[in-house]
Amino acid sequence: MERQIIEWVNGRILPYENIPFNKEAIEALIAQGELEVLRGVERRASGSYICRRCRNEERYYFETYTCAACGERCTYCVRCFRMGRISSCSKVVRCRAIERGNWPKYEYDWNGTYSYLQQRGADALVRAARENEGHLIYAVCGAGKTEMIFAPIDAYLKEGKQIAVVSPRVDVILELAPRFEKVFRGVPIQVLYGGAEDRGQPFHHAITLATTHQLFHYDEAFDAIFVDEADAFPYTYDIILRRNVEAARKKGAPIHAITATPTKALEREYRENTTIIPSRFHGHPLPLPTFRMLMRYEKALSKGKLPRVVVEWVRAQIDAGLPFLLFFHSIEAMEGVRDFVQRIHPTIEVVHSESAQRKEFVQQLRDGERVGLCTTTILERGVTIPKVQVAVLGAEQPIFTKEALIQIGGRVGRSKDHPTGDFVLFHAGWTRAMKAMEREMKKLNRLHERAKEEAR
Ligand SMILES: [Zn+2]
Ligand SMILES: [Zn+2]
Repeated sequence: MERQIIEWVNGRILPYENIPFNKEAIEALIAQGELEVLRGVERRASGSYICRRCRNEERYYFETYTCAACGERCTYCVRCFRMGRISSCSKVVRCRAIERGNWPKYEYDWNGTYSYLQQRGADALVRAARENEGHLIYAVCGAGKTEMIFAPIDAYLKEGKQIAVVSPRVDVILELAPRFEKVFRGVPIQVLYGGAEDRGQPFHHAITLATTHQLFHYDEAFDAIFVDEADAFPYTYDIILRRNVEAARKKGAPIHAITATPTKALEREYRENTTIIPSRFHGHPLPLPTFRMLMRYEKALSKGKLPRVVVEWVRAQIDAGLPFLLFFHSIEAMEGVRDFVQRIHPTIEVVHSESAQRKEFVQQLRDGERVGLCTTTILERGVTIPKVQVAVLGAEQPIFTKEALIQIGGRVGRSKDHPTGDFVLFHAGWTRAMKAMEREMKKLNRLHERAKEEAR
């Protein structure tokens, strides 16, 4: 029983009530010091609060009320209230992660070959793993970054380590899961995201694939954490998410970051521990953007229409038999032209963060069952569609940051057989983001040419 309880709690912080074992056995482990009990919401000397479950410390997320459980004035955490109330009088239990030593024999089933630069990225990560140091892989869109983390993960698993690969984007996790299950056959893997949460099952997995949101249960659990798309919303803006990722690693364990668009803060954080991969896996440069001035497009949108030049661009793609993505700055603007675009071609659909059929529509575009999709920035990352052509309508809108535009452009020319394509920005004026994006893409292409020389 004791072993079972420890397997259940290890590496995590869980509410006392959620541990489905006999109370005497739990109390015995507490008395032995195997389990540690903390107050659910703690008041510090400074008067501020901290929730031990979700690690929220923001004052506005705490409410004080007359508690039915203890009959006192009690403070609870509003932020994680949906998972059941955690308050000053509730108890949470933690237990340090079990050292695994070794994993059952598994098959590392990846027989691809690394490009020169992928090899450089993988080597840097293996070295970082050995030195127990966090590393940033700054790899252009289409560099083949997932493959780059296979080798270091294999190295970690060979030493019996427990690792996590997390991303702010659920789409990324859903795409990684089947690939990991194939490459690391026989390895215990768990996949966590909204809808498939950790509901307190025993934690004995070598690999945890999770959205950053799902990591808050974990406490000094992982020997290394890889954060994929480390700059994606909301991770960079949400201090609680970052705190949770940091708390989920064992003391001194590294956090590795992987992105095509590092923020200034990330670049500062990793400095010399950074490897730049300026080449796509197929060895062709990034397709550069073309800019087309388009004043008063918002007037057309307000009438439920697309401007004439955009219609022409859409028709040209349909005539050429090339799938396209047309990016909009807002859901409203896009929904307003849905009827209009479906008159151009009935298979054109609109997708955004609320579209339940998002994945299905993208697959249909890939399969040639749809000619194109209108989308918000939700499809800026994590999608690969061979031959796709991309346009942005209203590229000067503030939502199109430098990073967003680079990611959007990164959808183009990803396959070996079709390494180029249209990346058109229709805009009503230049922004700093547009200029910075173009500058950065050119810089990366120069680095790419240099790397090609080196590889010879
Ligand atoms: Zn909380
Ligand atoms: Zn209470």
